[in-house]
Amino acid sequence: MKPFLISLLALTLSSAFRTSENSVYICDTKTSEVYHITKSCNALGRCKHEIITVTKEEAEKKLGKRACKVCG
Ligand SMILES: [Zn+2]
Repeated sequence: MKPFLISLLALTLSSAFRTSENSVYICDTKTSEVYHITKSCNALGRCKHEIITVTKEEAEKKLGKRACKVCG
């Protein structure tokens, strides 16, 4: 593999990791007060609404949510 491709791959992987590190999942309903770190969280599995992905900062500061006790 060419060095260029390797560095491109490393860059892609590291940015993908950063994104997943900052992303949290929210059940899109007004009664939900928490955000979830993992999409496979049991509490999130009970969500009957749409699951939206936002950054952790958005969830806390803009939406006023707190970390889920199950997966957080
Ligand atoms: Zn959770």
